[in-house]
Amino acid sequence: MSVMTSLRRRAGWLVLAAALAMTAGPAGLGAKPLNPNAPKKPPPSTEKPKGGPAAPRLARRVVVVSLDGAGAAELQQLWRDDLLDEGGFARFFREGEVASALVPVDPTLAAPNHVSLATGAAPDRTGIVGNHFHPAGAPDFAKASGFDFPIGAETLWEAARRQRKRVAAVAWPGIDGSEPRLRADVGFSSAAGAERDPQLLVLKRSDWQAAAAGAAGAPRLASPSRSPVLGAHVALGGASGVAAAEFDLYAVGRTGDGQENYDSVVVAASIPAGAAGGGKAGGARAARAPSVANLEQSEPLGQGQWAEVIFPDRGGRSACWVKVLALDPGLEEVRLYFTGTYRLQAYPADYAKDLAESNLFWPGPPDDRRLAAAWHGQPGIDLDTWTEQAARFAAFFGGAMRRIATGRDDWDLMLGCIPVIDQAGHSLLLADSHQSGYSAARRDELARARRKVWQAVDHELRLLMAALDLGRTTVVVVSDHGMAPVHTIVDLNALLRERGWLASPAATAARAMPAARAARATPALRAARAAAGGGGGAGDGIAAYVIGDGGTAHLYLAKAAAAPDAAARQRQLLELRDQLLAWRSGDDTPIERVLTRQEAADLGLDHPNSGDLILFANEGYAFDPGPEPSGAATVHPASAYGMHGYLAAHPAMQGVYLAIGKDVKPGSASAAVQATDVAGRVARWLGMGKPAAAAAAGIGGR
Ligand SMILES: [Zn+2]
Repeated sequence: MSVMTSLRRRAGWLVLAAALAMTAGPAGLGAKPLNPNAPKKPPPSTEKPKGGPAAPRLARRVVVVSLDGAGAAELQQLWRDDLLDEGGFARFFREGEVASALVPVDPTLAAPNHVSLATGAAPDRTGIVGNHFHPAGAPDFAKASGFDFPIGAETLWEAARRQRKRVAAVAWPGIDGSEPRLRADVGFSSAAGAERDPQLLVLKRSDWQAAAAGAAGAPRLASPSRSPVLGAHVALGGASGVAAAEFDLYAVGRTGDGQENYDSVVVAASIPAGAAGGGKAGGARAARAPSVANLEQSEPLGQGQWAEVIFPDRGGRSACWVKVLALDPGLEEVRLYFTGTYRLQAYPADYAKDLAESNLFWPGPPDDRRLAAAWHGQPGIDLDTWTEQAARFAAFFGGAMRRIATGRDDWDLMLGCIPVIDQAGHSLLLADSHQSGYSAARRDELARARRKVWQAVDHELRLLMAALDLGRTTVVVVSDHGMAPVHTIVDLNALLRERGWLASPAATAARAMPAARAARATPALRAARAAAGGGGGAGDGIAAYVIGDGGTAHLYLAKAAAAPDAAARQRQLLELRDQLLAWRSGDDTPIERVLTRQEAADLGLDHPNSGDLILFANEGYAFDPGPEPSGAATVHPASAYGMHGYLAAHPAMQGVYLAIGKDVKPGSASAAVQATDVAGRVARWLGMGKPAAAAAAGIGGR
């Protein structure tokens, strides 16, 4: 669906304010203005009381922060360019240890690397061989997520809890809370998709109505509007049974030039009657009170300004952020952007409450889709808005970690992840003239935005370290992989189809049929069977499918169509391998390596979950996810700008490793650290045994 179409559809959600009684003038009752830039609830003092009995010896603590997608070369460049915060990244260079790189495990993807960081084991032991893969023993085409698949080795969080240490986990990939093994003592996992999607709203002059005098309900303004206050009403639709969130908008003009003109918008959550006071959900829709009493509302927002709007929601509170993208004095076209709302499942209850009271609501990731829309000339958000969202997302994770660092005693190990550098890499790494829309000016503009995202993370590190006692705490900052520019997607399933080697569910069913039944097969099944095996020649009989992930892909031979014996199967694989390696797209070589599972042992990928063949792309190319062809074209332009999943030996895939605090020698530069070394170091700093080699079935569920 095009953005234009969806916008037209959304226009139906604009409810004119005629249905509401609203006042002009400063008559708001008890409305609490919310300054979006106001400091959050100050952290409790960490100062220790003076005098009295000696303080008990405090146990050591370790904080592991993963900066998804942060590359070693980029960090070193920022350091050389003197762009790093003295109290943030730069502090590690001065007072801690900075390794030349962190060498990820293959494939250089988030799930395998976060699991290997946390276990000290390579994917051939953990079984997490991709963000997505076909799990051994499952039916053909089944696809598992590496973020919630059972891990084949003990994790740091399990080892810690086994040794009576307490664990905090802030959105650490792999700790999804779904079962005791995948849960910490305090924290949360990444919120799922938006409960209410982000919206871009365009209001015309006719959408605004004069606010009626006499009723309570207009915003209380520090300086009154000099033009008559106008109102409008909008709703943010909810998904799967979640009620829409409704907002009252007020157009305000603060200049006294005698003209009727407007320079700002006040956004107030609009609460159904009966819900505002006790925070209870429900209440007849028709009885919605036209009152902003008891509601939090924004200060007047001029063009380019954001506000966080918090509203009662199903017994708790939710929040979204609103930005005035465009506003003209005559209100001919006011464009407002509302972020989505999300459900965060933080635990235990007192931590969830603390986050909410600190106004730390999951703000959602930066809106890639609307940034791309704007780049294609459609309604969307600009680069500044995207960057501000990324910085806010970083601040959310930083804030959530600091609430644990300063507000709680019930943790020894904290595992936290900040994903925005990865997001900035995927969306903004325009650095290769083969990429669509490339120009030197755009390259530099996007590089500046990515630098702002790095600096937002830098700022959060500064605040986190300032909140920690580095005399008893070790902080280690790592990443899972770096990032490289991408310009072309290769759909390997479409390539298999071209060669007649693509397995499809219908075709594998036909092949699996006993001969007697096959004789009676319908024409459709016979056709499917012919399609599956129809290549002829050396590759005859091959039926395979691919699960791709950035620069890595796993190719699986369909089991239902398996060759009669191991030798024949091996011949098929080697034939496929050679054909794929020989494949060219024009003059280019998109595929760097193709390995059988056994050959991938050197990369730590010889595991039954791995493909029968494992492929790595050359930088510039990435593989379609599969396991079905996505469309007709085997090769098509990439929609992302940055990608990873290439061989870990590539310099661009190297991650970061920085450590500071207790037991870290100050001012030390060191050689590259392996991702699989990190868990052992963390265990040593914590004074506990490292994670066991095998999965710890049944532990961690205390
Ligand atoms: Zn990524």
